[in-house]
Amino acid sequence: MKCYDEGYYERHEDDRPDRCFLCRELSELLSVVRHIESMKMVHLCPDCMADRMSEYLLDNTKAWKGKVGKQEVEDALKIFQAVQGK
Ligand SMILES: [Zn+2]
Repeated sequence: MKCYDEGYYERHEDDRPDRCFLCRELSELLSVVRHIESMKMVHLCPDCMADRMSEYLLDNTKAWKGKVGKQEVEDALKIFQAVQGK
């Protein structure tokens, strides 16, 4: 499943979680979006997001911690196999 690939939610190397990727402003209203050019995740403030909408994708941000989701799937699979007697 592609969405659980290692690095699928890789953050841009210049991104900081407390600052806007573009204007470097400190903000608590940052959104996590996908930078289309690099396909990496970055944080944007509302102003930059409105200005540069065409260069960024609002992605499925709840899967940001991809490994957490992967573990849940693996656990569910183990339970399923145990129930099946395998
Ligand atoms: Zn900004």
